[in-house]
Amino acid sequence: MELKKTEKPELKKVHSKVLQMVNYQLWSNIEALSRLKQKGKKIGKLRFKGAGWFKTLNYNQSDFRIEGKKLILSKVGEIPIKVHRPIKGTIKGIIIKREKSGRLFASVQVENEPQPLLPSTGKAVGIDVGVKHFLTDTEGRQFENPRFYEKTLERIGILQRKLSKKRKGSENREKARVRLACAYERLVNQRNDFLHKLSRFYASHYTIILVEDLRIQNLVRNRNLAQKILDASWGKFFQLLSYKAESAGGIVVKKNPGGTTQDCSNCGRKVPKTLGERIHRCPYCGVELDRDYNASLNILYAGLGRPEEPAETRPLQVIPASLIIEAGSPFATARG
Ligand SMILES: [Zn+2]
Repeated sequence: MELKKTEKPELKKVHSKVLQMVNYQLWSNIEALSRLKQKGKKIGKLRFKGAGWFKTLNYNQSDFRIEGKKLILSKVGEIPIKVHRPIKGTIKGIIIKREKSGRLFASVQVENEPQPLLPSTGKAVGIDVGVKHFLTDTEGRQFENPRFYEKTLERIGILQRKLSKKRKGSENREKARVRLACAYERLVNQRNDFLHKLSRFYASHYTIILVEDLRIQNLVRNRNLAQKILDASWGKFFQLLSYKAESAGGIVVKKNPGGTTQDCSNCGRKVPKTLGERIHRCPYCGVELDRDYNASLNILYAGLGRPEEPAETRPLQVIPASLIIEAGSPFATARG
């Protein structure tokens, strides 16, 4: 299929290579669908989507230039840009993305020289994720859930109520919709920033990282969008952790969560406890530990085996999420 510019005069404004990429994307999507169908998977019908549906456009090779604070796209012209970080490597292409708020983002694809691996620390850590705290690790660190969400969540609530009061199709409704979309984007950005920094900390300090193999998606249903964004944090965290660990020469090992919270990390015996019990008190060996810290030790031992000598337990150090976010925190630089 070929889109002839003469048949669609409005397409004259679009650069030919970008049209090629749209076509290419469309066809590769159709191909992927037909492969699924051949395998007996149920697939829906193709529907026509209007121009507003395209959230991304790909520019490759020589169709654009970046000059200082300007992005020059062929057939479009100059667009002022805000450069978030310096571009290193050979530029291969660019993806223009439109968010629901209407803001445009350009992601520059570069080809880099392979990054040198970080020196391997050879250290292992177990991580337990939870609802009460973001995570607890075997070194006794307990990261609190980020508080900055709360403010954004509050704002989302206010904006949602405002939007619901606006007349459908009105200009004010559109303005309210954009404001709400911006707030959601902010939530996602804040969350991702936190997760990137926290996962980088673990990937650069540990070679073997043991985590629970969680199926979090199954735990929570029927939640609103803002809650869903936060619920997706664990999955996103493990995903970031895996690729950062890999590029640092390390590995993330997922362990079956069976018995993680109930077993005693010190003697291995089962100590049943309710959801509300925050302290693990073992009647057999007498050990007393924070519930999540005990769980993190069990995760570590599930991968490395239980040590013959009982491990030296550490006092818990509760760390506010803001410490991770602020640049230059001891957790961003400290090694050891
Ligand atoms: Zn015990």
